[in-house]
Amino acid sequence: MNTSANATPHITLIGAGLAGALLATLLARAGWRVDVYEKRGDPRLKGYQGGRSINLALAERGRHALRLAGADEAVMAQAVMMRGRMVHFLDGRTDLQRYGRDDSEVIWSVHRGELNLILLQIAQDAGANLHFHRGLSGVDFDARIARFRDDRDGSEHEVAFDSLVGADGAGSALRAAMGEVADLGERTEFLGHSYKELEIPPARDGGFSIEPNALHIWPRGRYMCIALPNDERTFTVTLFLPNQGDPSFETIRDGADARALFQRDFADALPLIPELERDFERNPAGLLATLYLERWHLDDRAVLLGDAAHAMVPFHGQGMNCAFEDCVALAERLLAGGDRGDAFAAFQRQRLPSARAIQAMALENYLEMRDRVDDDDYLLQRALERE
Ligand code: FAD
Repeated sequence: MNTSANATPHITLIGAGLAGALLATLLARAGWRVDVYEKRGDPRLKGYQGGRSINLALAERGRHALRLAGADEAVMAQAVMMRGRMVHFLDGRTDLQRYGRDDSEVIWSVHRGELNLILLQIAQDAGANLHFHRGLSGVDFDARIARFRDDRDGSEHEVAFDSLVGADGAGSALRAAMGEVADLGERTEFLGHSYKELEIPPARDGGFSIEPNALHIWPRGRYMCIALPNDERTFTVTLFLPNQGDPSFETIRDGADARALFQRDFADALPLIPELERDFERNPAGLLATLYLERWHLDDRAVLLGDAAHAMVPFHGQGMNCAFEDCVALAERLLAGGDRGDAFAAFQRQRLPSARAIQAMALENYLEMRDRVDDDDYLLQRALERE
């Protein structure tokens, strides 16, 4: 469908997560009518309620997109700088491996929940219409009607659309609906490793209990722990283990098993995590997978971006950054005008190769992080690079 030159263009986004809220802002600021449908309730109504913090590494690629959306300042106000990886060796030694020559080349730890709140508010302020409790449940692509379900009462709602944008994450309902009418060439490869999140609370004096300006890594060969700082002086620890073998999520089943593993392999981290047993038993193990998709759009009727198009394992810390770059690229194509099907095709041509490259780097970085960053040859090489 070509949008008439005079009419205000309209677009329907599925998912008000990180990518959905950012793209909504970019388009609404350019004068588009934007409707965003989100399965969950409005997180702003509850506000940030404390409890578990989950954070993400924000890199320059992501910050560029945030600047274009006018969100960088608000996001950076709660970000914690990470100037390198702090490697924790088995014998308790640590080594800071800088990401760049100085603090002009760093990454940032941002709180996922707070980031989402900021982006939603900025999208709404820009004029986007946000609809919560609207989970996409089906699409009639011929009639251009999307169906949504309200999880509170099970009611169904139909909405007419010009084009749909799927920013509804790795388990995208829009991707599933597109897959019913076209072969998307979809393939998911599971890593065979999963993760659990634990928490390091603030120190007794209220400060950080370990170096705040670093991404901490405890590499142990086939598995590892990492910890990223939060602005409330906590760290989110992520334990990555294989699904099978020893140790694995098959052998480390409860809090007592987790304590024994930490005593043996992560001894300097153990005293930092007072609620290890509770965290381990309460928090679910998350699966890790890479989603490969040959086709990201259905002519001018639907297009996918972010995790919905290219979910990746988290070891390069680039899933969100890559999703934000998608938003900028798609917004540029759309704002250039012309046929939407052509814009979606050009967007796919531009972004698919980059997404594939980042997916491969993310898989490779798992080996590097868990196995090589504490290797003597590797450390020597890094030291020489820094000279
Ligand atoms: P999401 O953030 O998943 O948002 C999807 C939205 O769609 C959600 O709000 C969801 O409720 C909504 N939705 C779902 N289904 C429907 C439906 N049927 N109808 C309507 N709405 C729906 N990336 C980084 O850049 N740096 C990191 O350090 C990093 N660390 C990570 C650590 C872990 C453990 C994991 C798992 C991922 C990590 N990532 C990281 C990746 C990052 O989380 C994702 O790439 C990013 O969240 C993708 O954004 P998105 O908007 O595409 O999807």
